[in-house]
Amino acid sequence: MATGPKPRTKQQAVEKALKEALPVNECLIRQTKKSISIGYKCITAMAREYYAHRLVYEVMNNISVKGLVIRHTCDNPACINPEHLVAGSHGDNVTDKVNKKRHLFGETAANARMTEAFVKQLRGFAKPVNFRSLCNETGISIGALKAAYYGHTWRHLL
Ligand SMILES: [Zn+2]
Repeated sequence: MATGPKPRTKQQAVEKALKEALPVNECLIRQTKKSISIGYKCITAMAREYYAHRLVYEVMNNISVKGLVIRHTCDNPACINPEHLVAGSHGDNVTDKVNKKRHLFGETAANARMTEAFVKQLRGFAKPVNFRSLCNETGISIGALKAAYYGHTWRHLL
């Protein structure tokens, strides 16, 4: 059977990518020479290649991005800062649809989102932080919790 390292889960792959990403201004630039199409980076997870920004959005928001267009508010295709990624659908008036979608997702996406107060509280926790139980308590993914805790996201609060 396979002797190589186990394929990374999407979650692990995204965590690794965020950890390795290079902060440029407010952006987190995916550090890989591999691009899927011009400027867009990829992340390999479960022996498959994904668009980096799409996979980050999927994991951090815990939703399927199938059929969604994931846009960069910073217009930097190599950026994987979860704070810079917004979902929309094809067609006109994407912003409007994004706004509507936020309302539709309400419970899931909104609950998965952290507040400033929460992030500040999170960063005040003594190490080692039990991300697993925090995840169970809050419904926020471990990846999102770690990213906030280590300052990969919510950088403006650092
Ligand atoms: Zn960005």
